[in-house]
Amino acid sequence: MAEVLADMPRVRDAVFAAVAAARGEDGADAHAMTHSWVLTGPPGAGRSVAARAFAQALVCSDSAEIGCGRCQNCIDAATGAHTDIVQIIPQGSEILAAQARDHIIPAAHSLPTVAQWRVVIIEDADRLNAHAANSLLKTIEEPPASTAILMCAPSLAPDDFMPTLRSRCRHLYIPSPSTQHIVQLLVDEDKATPQDAHLAAVTSLHHIGRARRLVNMPSMQARRAQAINLAELVFHGDQAFQAVNSLLKAVDKEIAETYEEQDEKELRKLEESLGYGAKGKGVHKSTRGSAGDIKELQANQKRRRTRARTDILDLALVDFAAIYRDAMMLAAEAEEELVHPDFEPLARELADKGGMPALVEAQDAIRQCRERLRANVTPQLAFDGMLGRIRLAFKVR
Ligand SMILES: [Zn+2]
Repeated sequence: MAEVLADMPRVRDAVFAAVAAARGEDGADAHAMTHSWVLTGPPGAGRSVAARAFAQALVCSDSAEIGCGRCQNCIDAATGAHTDIVQIIPQGSEILAAQARDHIIPAAHSLPTVAQWRVVIIEDADRLNAHAANSLLKTIEEPPASTAILMCAPSLAPDDFMPTLRSRCRHLYIPSPSTQHIVQLLVDEDKATPQDAHLAAVTSLHHIGRARRLVNMPSMQARRAQAINLAELVFHGDQAFQAVNSLLKAVDKEIAETYEEQDEKELRKLEESLGYGAKGKGVHKSTRGSAGDIKELQANQKRRRTRARTDILDLALVDFAAIYRDAMMLAAEAEEELVHPDFEPLARELADKGGMPALVEAQDAIRQCRERLRANVTPQLAFDGMLGRIRLAFKVR
């Protein structure tokens, strides 16, 4: 546990103080512990890692060392197998009131079975919709005496997270991890070479999950290179537009493959629970209202796919923008580390060809494209508009 939080001393101190208070240790500050917490921080900073470390510290049964890593509670917590730690991971774009009522509230109101604490971790708590948040107010305000609730939300400012919930919680800010910390993590846990790990740490802009995918998934590396190479293709006739076309197709295919099976399973399960395919008495009654339920499930599944596609394309655009940012650093002769050190020659070429005004304009075109994607403009339209602006900026005919 200590290693996980070593990079965030302020978080570690808060967690240790809270657990010492929870244990009633001599000299502990009794106010350091509270039942409901919200953990915020930039995307990829490791909020869920911190939440799991916190949970482990709470359930640890070693009397001398908090979160010892050796007791059975610690071992189960570290492998995600602890019965008193419940992790809520939203699947759709929203956490609905029904999920709060059927999963989160009962989990919070159960007594711990083997540890002193019951810990409920809610990932992406910013996806709680207004109804779900409302139904949780009472539980968050006054959880049972042996329950801790840890909500994680990606955000730079804690104010972004629902005020009604936030005002009932203590806040912990999880900062971005250092390059060195990410390198260590990838070398130790993912068996990456120090060189690959360093490249992943800087190109992911210190996003742990993304850095990890970069070293482990060839498709992520390929997509990063594809996005960066768009900057070169802009100078070659229609090639950038064609490349965008195939990028979008590849992403759609990947998403279809990722969700096909899951969508199908969820639909079958719902149909079964509604009595589809069943025979005999009572069947008619149980299928009432089912069309609406199926429609809702399918709408949710569609939203999940759209969100996943937007996330992937957004990451590609972050990569794309960074090559122009690198070009700017080189043009200004700034002593900044490059985000894509392995594409330095391309960054130099861009700096030579366009100069500052074109580089600024290109980054603004990319920013606009990201905004339009989030506003549900079709990807093709958003990308083509962006490429058009960049071509103009670099005076490509
Ligand atoms: Zn322990």
